[in-house]
Amino acid sequence: MHAPIKNLLPGATLGVLGGGQLGRMFVHCAQRMGYQTAVLDPDPQSPAGLVCHHHIKTDYEDPQGLRELMRLCDAVTTEFENVPALVLQELATHLPVNPSAFAVSIAQDRIKEKKHFTDCKVPVAPYGVITRQEDLGALPETLLPGILKTARLGYDGKGQIRVQTTQELKSAWNEIQAHQRDAQGMPCVLEKLLPLEFECSIILARNASGHIVNLPPQRNIHRDGILALTQVHEGCLPKALQTQLIEFASEVADQLKYVGVLCVEFFILKNANPSPSEPQQYSLVVNEIAPRPHNSGHYSVEACDVSQFELQVRCLASLPLTRPRQLCPALMLNLLGDLWLDPLSTERDPIWREPDWAAILKLNGVHLNLYGKHEPRRLRKMGHITITGSDVAALYTTLNEITHILALPAFTRP
Ligand code: ATP
Ligand code: MG
Repeated sequence: MHAPIKNLLPGATLGVLGGGQLGRMFVHCAQRMGYQTAVLDPDPQSPAGLVCHHHIKTDYEDPQGLRELMRLCDAVTTEFENVPALVLQELATHLPVNPSAFAVSIAQDRIKEKKHFTDCKVPVAPYGVITRQEDLGALPETLLPGILKTARLGYDGKGQIRVQTTQELKSAWNEIQAHQRDAQGMPCVLEKLLPLEFECSIILARNASGHIVNLPPQRNIHRDGILALTQVHEGCLPKALQTQLIEFASEVADQLKYVGVLCVEFFILKNANPSPSEPQQYSLVVNEIAPRPHNSGHYSVEACDVSQFELQVRCLASLPLTRPRQLCPALMLNLLGDLWLDPLSTERDPIWREPDWAAILKLNGVHLNLYGKHEPRRLRKMGHITITGSDVAALYTTLNEITHILALPAFTRP
């Protein structure tokens, strides 16, 4: 194990595995605080690679690339949860690394992750594990209709198939296995499809002494399995629910001895029969964790005094954690590549163009964030817009002016 942790003061070099938008925002924040930065990502055009001091353009497992990362850096984190846990383990024998390989390995695998939640006594959606074809027959029918999810490598709703019947379940399993290069096949979970009232998530940071701070819990709207809007203002989430989210998320982090920034996603259900002994209006189940900052926490850059990326820098550099304060109500709208499609496009013949940012930037309280991805693609996260202001109603007016300009369906205030 590495020697006792000391503060890494500005001037030190912080490294990140993965060069996506999360890495880019981490780099921006670390640079603002006076750190040098290094990114390991094979893509020469990766969003974080384009803005860091040192971009190492190798695969995540390339020994030479990893040696270079260790030579340049004083500590390393990850923005990419599918980085092989062994790589983190190897790096950690030479320099401080957080989150740990162990914590990341739990988050990478839905089966281990669900077991961890259950061990923490945090409720999960009813589910069954399928590792072989024969397991399909043993699943209770009560899990249908359900969602078949790959145990590993899913994101943005990829690796998930909704199924109504045992026949559909079988075809979905076969379809997933047919796409596997690994002869071992891909273990899956079948999760019962729940009537979600809404979804929310919470971002916390935990340091090596077990001190935890959190961002205010946020309410999330997904469209087609992808986060579309995050809402963080008075009236989004009942107080009692917020307290419970914080308790559950802290337990999940504590039991992992987690160090770093962690996002915990929850599903909120209507409590069918509130009773005097259980008067709560809502019940919740945990969905999954992300061992890193999260898309739903982007609003913190403009709306909080300490952002999720500053928390990541502070954790990595072993600096004190102070509790982030939200400075004003905020909304965050994701910008997917589809918005770059010209209305004259057809499915077979797409025409790409830049959305009318000038029209959007005319509006008050709008913060445009683009990730520097050169090529828009359908469903690809290209950027986001944070809207801040003191009046919540005005935020929604602005939001729907933006959705109108972008030809997106409107959103309503909870
Ligand atoms: P990401 O990594 O982008 O958060 P993911 O691919 O890991 O997404 P999930 O978070 O498991 O996928 O699911 C994506 C979305 O699908 C959820 O946010 C929710 O809207 C819906 N969903 C997933 N599981 C269920 C369920 N059991 N019941 C109802 N809706 C669900
Ligand atoms: Mg999710």
